[in-house]
Amino acid sequence: MILSMPKIIKLLPILRCVEDFFIPPLCVVCDSALGNDGDRWFCPACINALAANHSQRDDVCPRCSQNRRKRECACEFAWDFSFEKVFSAYDYDSTVSSIAKHIKYKGKSRLAYHTGVVTAPLLPREFFMRADMVVPVPLHKSKMRRRGYNQAEHFARGVLNGLNGGGAGLGLKLRTDLLIRVKNTGTQTKLDREDRLQNLIGAFAANPQKITELKGKNVILVDDIFTTGATAESCAEELLRAGCATVRVLAMGRD
Ligand SMILES: [Zn+2]
Ligand SMILES: [Zn+2]
Repeated sequence: MILSMPKIIKLLPILRCVEDFFIPPLCVVCDSALGNDGDRWFCPACINALAANHSQRDDVCPRCSQNRRKRECACEFAWDFSFEKVFSAYDYDSTVSSIAKHIKYKGKSRLAYHTGVVTAPLLPREFFMRADMVVPVPLHKSKMRRRGYNQAEHFARGVLNGLNGGGAGLGLKLRTDLLIRVKNTGTQTKLDREDRLQNLIGAFAANPQKITELKGKNVILVDDIFTTGATAESCAEELLRAGCATVRVLAMGRD
């Protein structure tokens, strides 16, 4: 049987899920061999690197989560975000960048979930206390078809499982049906913050059939990497327009 190109493209997400199921015996970050008893994705050195990355973030800006040991943020002079604050678990170092690339471009949805599980114990409980729901930054449906999954959603699922299952019992629900990406903006990596914001105008919309479910709610918006904040800002504006009381942002890494 010879498959046509469009059929192969349609099958890609399925093939990736199958590949994803068979977890490789090598560390996803550094390719060193994994033993049978440790973590199934990361070697002990990379787990330690993640923990060290997190512990070196002991002086971060409480609003934008910038690591002040590395760089001062601009919050004192300007805060033009409509969300309340950002919390990032890690700095965007080589380990986190490698994980993010595997998640985003190599189809490893289970790695996104697993990173969330590993990260959950590092997150402060207070950040989640007042929240009603967790909403991942949505993907446009054409990108979703191509990739087969939303990495922010899987990371968020892992975090929630880690928090709820880990005895924290916060009872937070993940909602993927309330915020929709209606405009496919393409890649934004080469644009600066202003151009990104411009590009994202009208990109997100609250689901008109469920808009009442957002009224008065305190939302935690989850993204993989927080860079300029333009995507989070665009989502937050829409959530607040739809009636949410507050929006906070949880990111895996802060660039
Ligand atoms: Zn490793
Ligand atoms: Zn700041």
